Order: sequence, then C-alpha cells, then structure tokens
Amino acid sequence: MIRDHAGGNEKIKEMVPGIKVYGGSLDNVKGCTHQVENGDKFSIGAHVNVLSLHTPCHTKGHISYYVTGKEGEDPAVFTGDTLFVAGCGKFFEGSAEQMYQSLCVTLGSLPQPTQVYCGHEYTVKNLLFALTVEPSNVKLQQKLAWAQNQRQAGLPTIPSTIEEELETNPFMRVDLPELQKLVGFNDPIEALREIRKRKDNWRG
Ligand SMILES: [Zn+2]
Repeated sequence: MIRDHAGGNEKIKEMVPGIKVYGGSLDNVKGCTHQVENGDKFSIGAHVNVLSLHTPCHTKGHISYYVTGKEGEDPAVFTGDTLFVAGCGKFFEGSAEQMYQSLCVTLGSLPQPTQVYCGHEYTVKNLLFALTVEPSNVKLQQKLAWAQNQRQAGLPTIPSTIEEELETNPFMRVDLPELQKLVGFNDPIEALREIRKRKDNWRG
C-alpha cells in the first residue's frame, strides 16, 4: 500500500481508541481494522452511506469510496490515486485494461454530478499535459486558466465532478473516436495505454 495515504492510520488509532480503519482487502493497508471488497457498504454515523468500489491498477486492491447522504443525495467519490483531476495514477500494480475498467467503466458510470475528491493536488500539471493530447479542447483551456487562478490564490482545485472529468480528463475520454484519432489508436484501451506512456515520459 502506498504510504502517503495510510501513514497516519497508526497514529489516529492511538489518538482515537476504537476507531475503525477501512481498507481494500487486497492491499496490505497499514492499521486497517475493516477490510472491504468491491460492493461492500457501510455507514458513517446516521446520515452518511459509503459504497466501496474496487478500482485497481495503481495498486491491486485500490478502493474508491462512493459517499452519499441517506437517500442517495449529494454524491461524492474519494478516488485516492486512481483518478486525479485531469489525470490518473501510474500503473504500478496493474494494466491499461484494468485502468480502463476502473476509470471509464466503474467511475465513469457514476452520476455525472458526483463530486470527485482525489488523493493529490496534481491538477495544473495534469491539465498542462492534457492540453498536449487535446490542444483544441476549449473546456480544458478554460479549466487550466481557472486552476492556475485557484492555485495562485492558495486555493484547492478539488473537488471536480465526474461530468467535468468526462469533458477534460484525457484518460476518461478514450472512448471518444476523436480522442483515439489524436493519439493514433482506434481502440480505447490502446489509447489509454498510449496516453499513460506519454505522461510517464512527459517532462512538463
Ligand atoms: Zn498518493
């Protein structure tokens, strides 16, 4: 398990005796007390429901948490290192096939207004890279200008929404023939593999 998201678990267990720590059953999450699998549900207090979604690739057991109110209202998804704003995690323990399933099928089919909370503030760099793939995407140009303003003002660029990601995140847009054409593959998984390869080699 990537330490940057689990490093505080032991400490918080000392500070809050009895606290529950949830983590994917396939990742050896430090301090985990409750292992979850795809589809597992639990609640936080009386008003918050959580659905566990297996979104592997960055790590083999990566879980994203889909969180709503009691009646399914105000959806948000916590995507860790699988989906970033305008980007995705490196393929440390998985393949392009898995990332396609995680990003474009599992997360891509959540309701479009779902707010996206990712694990790192990589937005500006991701948008700069995304523009190398899709230079004439107007939504992308607008989001970059907005994100740069946010960061200059010391503000976060997170959350995004699933709708915005479908408009601006090249890794989530690989089903579109026009994007496939831009990267030279007429297959979504091959396009995803190619964009990840370009990003890994990009020195923006
Ligand atoms: Zn991380």
